Amino acid sequence: MVVGFIGLGTMGREMARNLVKAGHAVQAYDVAQVAMQDVVAVGGQAASSIAGAASGAAVVITMLPDTPDVQAVVLGEGGLLHNPPAGRLIVDMSTIAPQAVRAMAATLKAEGIDLVDAPVSGGPQGAKAATLTIMAGGDADAFARARPVLAAMGTTINDVGGSGAGQTVKLCNQLMVGINLQSVCEALALGRASGLDLVQMREVLLGGSAASWMLDRLGPAMIAGDTSAGFRIDLQLKDLRLVQELASALAVPLPGRALVSSQYLEAKAHGEGGNGNQALFKVYDRMTNQSAG
Ligand code: NAD
Repeated sequence: MVVGFIGLGTMGREMARNLVKAGHAVQAYDVAQVAMQDVVAVGGQAASSIAGAASGAAVVITMLPDTPDVQAVVLGEGGLLHNPPAGRLIVDMSTIAPQAVRAMAATLKAEGIDLVDAPVSGGPQGAKAATLTIMAGGDADAFARARPVLAAMGTTINDVGGSGAGQTVKLCNQLMVGINLQSVCEALALGRASGLDLVQMREVLLGGSAASWMLDRLGPAMIAGDTSAGFRIDLQLKDLRLVQELASALAVPLPGRALVSSQYLEAKAHGEGGNGNQALFKVYDRMTNQSAG
């Protein structure tokens, strides 16, 4: 299949490489020229515009930072609304607002173009290993057309409902990610202050009822004081903002979200927005006057 891919950042470049490896002809576009190098290196083609990425494609995938970025690429000047792929299918895999997805889907539908929202979970490791969890919303028929392409990037692929449902499930995921990571920070801070061996403590806890993806995958970097990204604190803050927008619209109180958002904001205020989200532990370094590593 000819697949257009727009947004070749931390996640997108790995996902696009897997599409090439699965035999698809990938036409990649990113505003940052350098971002396309990894895909070209495995046989993808660099496009010079959104229209170039979409030209002759069965589907265009977008993997962009935030809602306004996707709106610009889809609805903006030179965007996909006016330069649709031949297959008239767009799959947005970014994490953005479900309300915005539904509005875009309606605008596109009026022009005979389908939009599937298909955000992912699994981080850069999952993107690289093609083991992402993909939660998709949109028409069942459009999902069925997208599925062969999604299968090159993920292993757990579910149609979770109509337009925006994929993003809604993803926001629930991000709420849990944020709060779960904070719980790991808090336990590690207490263990450290108690003089425990944190490497051993993590191994022990992974065998019990407090085990979690965060403790498993991010615990080692937290204990070592490794702040590299991964999933940036700035993106976690963006997701917690999207969660709040949804919760406010539905009048659902989320006190846990409010607390962890303040802590991520504290990290950002210290210039740490570009760190990986595991570096939330630095907030606990400051609160306890101790440091990791
Ligand atoms: P990133 O910032 O590393 O990559 C985004 C890419 O989009 C960049 O290369 C940027 O140059 C490009 N871009 C921005 N605006 C553009 C435009 N108008 N046209 C073309 N290219 C443009 O972000 P990421 O970490 O790859 O995340 C992408 C999305 O996936 C985000 O919504 C994020 O929340 C979500 N996500 C990220 C992770 C993770 O672990 N990093 C995990 C799951 C989901």
